[in-house]
Amino acid sequence: MQIKIPRIITPDYWLANLGDVQRYLRHHLAQGELRQFGESSLGFPLQVVEYANPGARKLMVIGGTHGHEPGGVASVMNLIHLLETGRDLAGEPHERLLELAGGLHLLLVPCLNPDGRSVCPDSFYAQGIETTVAYSSGIQTNGDLVPYDSESQEPCYYFDPADAVFVGGQFNGAGWAINRRLSDDHSEAVEVQALLGLAQGAGLDAILDLHACGSNFAFQVRSHEAPYWPVMREWQRRAEALFGAKGRPLNKLHGDDDPPVPPAFFCNSALLHKHAKLMWMSYEGRQGYVGRVPFFPLPTEWEIIDDYLGAIEVYLELGTEGRYADANAEVFG
Ligand SMILES: [Zn+2]
Repeated sequence: MQIKIPRIITPDYWLANLGDVQRYLRHHLAQGELRQFGESSLGFPLQVVEYANPGARKLMVIGGTHGHEPGGVASVMNLIHLLETGRDLAGEPHERLLELAGGLHLLLVPCLNPDGRSVCPDSFYAQGIETTVAYSSGIQTNGDLVPYDSESQEPCYYFDPADAVFVGGQFNGAGWAINRRLSDDHSEAVEVQALLGLAQGAGLDAILDLHACGSNFAFQVRSHEAPYWPVMREWQRRAEALFGAKGRPLNKLHGDDDPPVPPAFFCNSALLHKHAKLMWMSYEGRQGYVGRVPFFPLPTEWEIIDDYLGAIEVYLELGTEGRYADANAEVFG
């Protein structure tokens, strides 16, 4: 896969470029321990930063499942910088978040899908035309989009990279959709299997997966059993209050029917939940301008990151209270 990706100038605190992220992790960690837990299909290291706290509850945060969603990567990097220095990369304090993090054992994966990240720009902010679909799907050799439709009930699970100029951020470099499959037995994406291996031995209560599509909502993970539903609703209640106080209303909890009806396919949420016996949360932050009316008003890049950090704050709060552990115990015994 040889494609020249335009380098877009972004603020220093928007740390989403793969090379810049790796440089930061190599040179700027003093508190967290950097470990490699696998390798992507194109040979990029899969990295986790661990903030150990013996006896404390263990939670994980993931960014960069989808390569065309740089805000999640930037937000995990801001969280790491906050834990390292007491400030985010823009110099802002987040006292409550920092206090909660101090009482927990955290595993932070800035970029689960470096292959996807490597073929997408570092920002779609104010590009003025809708470019995210092309980067999320990729381009076939005949010039058409690779047929991944994120709205579809039956998305493309695999596309042969030999038939593409590049496969987009929805896929890994080997052409496997990174987040959706037909089965919850295993993932063909080596990155997801590596994550499962990491999670299975780690004793985690929960994983928070940061995505983006401009929608600014969290998901009721519909493949999960009933004890998880009120936990997610409580996350929503608290997050709504937090976001609302900042004048940036959170949208309603996606897929929260009564009862939530599972989709026809399985996301990483189902795989990790089943095999690592933990709760999985997904929050979709904003992406900046992608040329669609519902995504207005235009947030600043710092507001996008601050939204994610707010989502993480509420996630850590519920984790501190043992809410995920209680639901896990109810389901798995
Ligand atoms: Zn996504």
